[in-house]
Amino acid sequence: MSTTDPDCLFCKIASGEVPAEIVRDGERVLAFRDINPQAPTHVLVIPREHHPDAASAAGAGTGLVDEVVREAHSIAEDEGVASTGYRMVFNTGSGAGQTVFHLHCHLLGGRGLEWPPG
Ligand code: IMP
Repeated sequence: MSTTDPDCLFCKIASGEVPAEIVRDGERVLAFRDINPQAPTHVLVIPREHHPDAASAAGAGTGLVDEVVREAHSIAEDEGVASTGYRMVFNTGSGAGQTVFHLHCHLLGGRGLEWPPG
């Protein structure tokens, strides 16, 4: 199975073909700032491998969802939002607002976050 999709925006960011403000540049996981931030800290954490969403990556037993979550928490600590609370969001499916079908965790923090979300 191919681990990249030539038509996928986040695969292109992972390969460097599309520029992004990189926050972490790991062997299997990458993080960059969202182009349209919804909070003072809004970072997207992705695996380099292409998986359409978190559930499919978890189902494939890749361990990547664990790595993405650990990385997001570590970034939250570095950004100074871990102690006040932050949110991880995995939009899954277009009905939930997913627009890029490459597993990504939104890390949001630095402001009050309401519940339930919109
Ligand atoms: P989704 O709606 O959960 O799929 O999240 C996709 C996110 O990618 C959105 O929050 C977009 O603002 C963000 N995004 C789209 N294009 C880029 C880009 O080129 N660089 C960084 N973030 C992007």
